[in-house]
Order: sequence, then structure tokens, then C-alpha cells
Amino acid sequence: MSSNEENDTNPAEEATTAAPSSESTEAAPATPEDTVPAAGKAGRRPLIAGNWKLNAGGADGCDLAIAIARSAADREEVEVVVAPPFTAIAAVANELYNKKSDVGVAGQNVYFEESGAFTGEISPSMLRTAGANWVILGHSERRQLFGETDELVAKKLVAANAGGLKCIVCVGETLDQREAGQTLDVIRTQVSAVLPELARSVGDSVIAYEPVWAIGTGKVASPEDAQEVHAAIRQLLADADAELADQTRVLYGGSVKANNAEGLLSQPDIDGALVGGASLEAEGFGKIIDIAAKLVRQGKNS
Ligand code: PEP
Repeated sequence: MSSNEENDTNPAEEATTAAPSSESTEAAPATPEDTVPAAGKAGRRPLIAGNWKLNAGGADGCDLAIAIARSAADREEVEVVVAPPFTAIAAVANELYNKKSDVGVAGQNVYFEESGAFTGEISPSMLRTAGANWVILGHSERRQLFGETDELVAKKLVAANAGGLKCIVCVGETLDQREAGQTLDVIRTQVSAVLPELARSVGDSVIAYEPVWAIGTGKVASPEDAQEVHAAIRQLLADADAELADQTRVLYGGSVKANNAEGLLSQPDIDGALVGGASLEAEGFGKIIDIAAKLVRQGKNS
């Protein structure tokens, strides 16, 4: 049953009338992922998320979301999320609601304050009000182009969770860092910054390992190289808390496409993908969703 059948309230509309106050940590209206059964080992249902970046911010975003919803229908083994630009979030969330789709909606960024003199920023409750239930944090483009630090990402994670958003926290090394043999040190530092909040809210957030050199370049990490880093991330989580390691989904991101998704998604510690460029085209994105669903049906992680 979709959340729409269970809940006759449009998440965006309900959030508009009952937006969480700045102090509120109350759960926001039920969202698709609240009601869909978990699948796979330790309930790690694969998550395929599309980061639209600075694209599809108007009516084109609604068209894309509708096409993706069509591809995601009857693929309940897989959780699907799209991250439009802020300008399209409310319209996309409404379209998905009207189509009775379980596809979730993410912001691409959020600020850690609820309100005030922060020109150009947007708060967790504003995202919820618009109909988003997820947010991407610490994407390498935000770290590199907008100076986001590990500390800032950690503050945003705390605020976003408190505001009822699930988070996709991005980590990843640059090419220089990889060539200098620093990959695992970089990942350790980035994950350690958010570990206390991840451990406080086990399973609410996911980590996306996105090697910076693979983002938007067409250079994808080999499944083996990606698995090595994913296993290291899982171990960092396990060192903090075994349940955290079991419950936290770790996505791979960086030039994932329909023709390379299977090798990556087959890896034991890769629980889904954060997809940039290929998420702007519904057919190719749909094929990635299909591959993830097929792997679950074939018993991956069971
Ligand atoms: C991303 O933006 O997170 C990303 C992985 O982009 P791409 O798939 O285009 O490399």
C-alpha cells in the first residue's frame, strides 16, 4: 500500500498548516518511506537518489518527476528519491502526491538555523513545508565551491534531523588525495564529524561515498575500489555501534549510469546510488532502479 492510500493528506499541504516550530522535534506527516517494508540484509532497502543539481527547476522538473514516478512504480524493493532545486520542490512533491507515488523528495542543501537574518538560506521546516522529506548534505560541490566544512555539515545534520528530515551525507576524496594514498584518512575524518549524530538517530540518515574525481566526469570507480571504501565506512560505523553499521545505508555516487550500475550495486556494502547527470533522464534512471530491484529479487543482502 502506498502512503497516499494510507494517508489522504498531501504532505506538502499538511506541513503548510502544521509546520514544526523552531523547537519542535515532532515527526512530520507520514512520508512514503515511513510505511514501506524494509528489504534486504538488516533491512537495508536499496536507495536510488537523483541529484538534479542546478537543472529542472520549473515545469520541466514536474515532467521529470512524473516520468521517474512511472519508472519507480511497482519497484517497491527499492526506495527512490529525487532532489530538485528549491524552486521545484513544492510542485514536484504535489505532482508525486497526486500520482500516488512513493518517490521521496530531497532538498540539495539546508541551513542549520530555523529563521532569522540569513539571506539566501532555507531551513529544515521550510523544506518540510514544501513537501521534502530528505536533504542532501555536504555534497562535494558544496564543500569545494561553497566552502562547506565538516563542522558545518555536522551542524546541518543535527538541525535537519531535528526538523524531521532524513539526510544523505556525502563524503569523498579528491583525485590528489587518492593519488597521495589518503583516501581512507579523508573518509575517516569526514565520517567522524557526523558520527555522533548518526549514532544518535540510527538508520535515519544514509552516507553517500562520492569520490570527487568521479562526479560528473564519466570516470566511475571500479566496483572493487568502491567496495573497499564502503567496507571501510561500514567498519567505522561498526567501531561506534554494531547496529549503526547494520542499519546505515551507504550509497555510491560518481558517474553511475545504467551501463555500470549492476557491478556497483552488486557489491555487499553498496546499498544504492546517488545519481547526478543520469537522473535527469527518466529512462536511464529507471533502468538503474530496475537493476537495484532485480538484485534484491535475486537475493542480494538476504
Ligand atoms: C552527484 O551529483 O552526486 C553525482 C554523483 O553526479 P554524477 O552522477 O553526474 O557524477
